[in-house]
Amino acid sequence: MPGPECYCGKKGCIETWLSGPGFAADYMLDTREALSPEAIVAAAEGGNRPARLALRRYADRLARALAHVINILDPHAIVLGGGMSNIAALYDEVPSRWGAYVFSDSVSTPLLRHAHGDASGVRGAAWLWPEAG
Ligand SMILES: [Zn+2]
Repeated sequence: MPGPECYCGKKGCIETWLSGPGFAADYMLDTREALSPEAIVAAAEGGNRPARLALRRYADRLARALAHVINILDPHAIVLGGGMSNIAALYDEVPSRWGAYVFSDSVSTPLLRHAHGDASGVRGAAWLWPEAG
């Protein structure tokens, strides 16, 4: 606390943890080694302990964040977007952890991978506006 500075001017925003740069910053805080998110994930998949622990922290933070969404909205599904959504391990790790944070005895919400690329959220937002003219 109060957490890393965010580009918005506040500190500790979820974006500072649950983004590619946030993931890399967390890894660097632990190891003093600057790696890209892709390199950290590759190291984790290769069995590197600090990388595995960083990925586990990321999954746990994402599970906690999404538990709030489930608690408030109880969505039929949660679809991940953005570059970090390409990490296959998250689709098992996160749902296996969010039960500990959801205010219910069971969770049926599936965590789904995007169907149209990791920029699907941006594409969907663009579809909300009708064509000009
Ligand atoms: Zn912020």
